[in-house]
Amino acid sequence: MSQEYDLLVIGGGSGGLAHAQRAAEYGVNAAVVEYGPLGGTCVNVGCVPKKVMWYASHYAHQLHHSADYGYDVTVAGHDWPALKARRDAYVERLNNIYSNNLDKRGVTYIAGTARFIDANAVVVGDVEYRATHIVVATGGQPIVPNIPGAEHGITSDGFFELQEQPKRVLIAGSGYIAVELAGIFAGLGSETRIIVRKEGVLRGFDKMLSSELTDTMQKNGVALDTGAVPAAVRRTDDGLVLTAEDGREFGPVDALVWAVGRSPNTATLDLDKAGVNMDERGFVPTDELQATNVENIHALGDVTGRAALTPVAIAAGRRLADRLYGGMEGRHLEYRLIPTVVFSHPTIGTVGMTEDEARAEYGDDVKVYTSGFTPMFYALGEDKQRAAMKLITAGAEESVVGCHVIGDGADEMMQGFAVAMRMGATKKDFDDTVAIHPTSAEEIVTMR
Ligand SMILES: Cc1cc2nc3c(=O)[nH]c(=O)nc-3n(C[C@H](O)[C@H](O)[C@H](O)COP(=O)(O)OP(=O)(O)OC[C@H]3O[C@@H](n4cnc5c(N)ncnc54)[C@H](O)[C@@H]3O)c2cc1C
Repeated sequence: MSQEYDLLVIGGGSGGLAHAQRAAEYGVNAAVVEYGPLGGTCVNVGCVPKKVMWYASHYAHQLHHSADYGYDVTVAGHDWPALKARRDAYVERLNNIYSNNLDKRGVTYIAGTARFIDANAVVVGDVEYRATHIVVATGGQPIVPNIPGAEHGITSDGFFELQEQPKRVLIAGSGYIAVELAGIFAGLGSETRIIVRKEGVLRGFDKMLSSELTDTMQKNGVALDTGAVPAAVRRTDDGLVLTAEDGREFGPVDALVWAVGRSPNTATLDLDKAGVNMDERGFVPTDELQATNVENIHALGDVTGRAALTPVAIAAGRRLADRLYGGMEGRHLEYRLIPTVVFSHPTIGTVGMTEDEARAEYGDDVKVYTSGFTPMFYALGEDKQRAAMKLITAGAEESVVGCHVIGDGADEMMQGFAVAMRMGATKKDFDDTVAIHPTSAEEIVTMR
């Protein structure tokens, strides 16, 4: 006996839930299959608990500057287990909210692991579910390198399980998750080191961001070693030691964190039984309408390998439902000018092209404006932290094609500028906008 739905979504994370709920609002009989807690990566082991930890570290940073503002504060310590307990309780509340949201919209929640049996059916446990439309929104998981002793390390998932704060931490990786975790550990007082395979962190971001962040992280006590390719890990009496291919040793440390990328959750989906193509890394290629090569099967979110961010997965999911069930013909997500934030210390906000990308596309038709300064918050103390900004324009009309900011408040700055850039703002529009004073953001509209 099989159960029948109009729509079956595999994966109850950001993208899958958004799609199923929007579809249900259009009257579609939808079900979501999820083997983990509802909410997926973002809510359980991603954005949400990460931001809580970022706040904790940011708070330590503010406390460090309290004397600048006349406070005589003695900090007796930091209670990691208490913070974890509060964070976990918050995440559990969110899981319940997601479950209630499904109930409210009449979406069926199927707990378990889905596998395809053909293009219109999956099996969960021993129950078969058939549907007219199937959406693959299975997200991804952290990669653990295939080297001896790698199992001694943890991933970002394991970071959220840490019961105690490790005193000495080694993070292998150069992406945004690596620098975010480094900022959290260092801010809370762990001795923190990052090792990267190549020359620096945040490759793929504008070079100014990478170099400014490297300087500030090092100033704030995060050690960075470049050109270190992990070869083996061993446990010693004093902690974990990582050996690099060139023979360098790192450690001993109390925690080793692999932040070396993520792979799609497709290995056990049996996509071949439905005839769905994957690329060589297991991602499901989709066109601009989120369509796979099989007509009734769509894919969205991290599993597609494009712009792995929660709002991207949500937007793709909602637009797909609008198009398929809401009568909005052609509606789809444009994968351009996607703003994003790195919750490093300090934060980074970025939207649009890097300078290298702009020069590759527009050649000499690119004009770049930069600014570097110390935000006013640091004016009264000795420990100054820099902020830096870059605006990249293209063409005679100087359309703003890239905007990059590192510094306190960059995380909250970028959303509005992303709107302006989507509307085609030029440098003159920025110049003609009256500044808000005194803020760091005003620098973006006063650059010459
Ligand atoms: C440490 C970390 C920090 C992050 N921080 C941010 C941030 O600050 N901002 C941001 O925008 N993004 C952030 N992200 C990325 C963000 O979490 C993802 O882009 C987002 O969750 C992708 O949503 P999704 O729906 O594609 O996949 P997911 O949210 O991963 O959901 C997929 C779901 O599918 C389930 N699943 C997989 N296979 C099956 C199966 N066969 N059967 C049933 N269920 C299955 C999984 O259990 C999972 O719950 C972060 C990620 C990490 C790891």
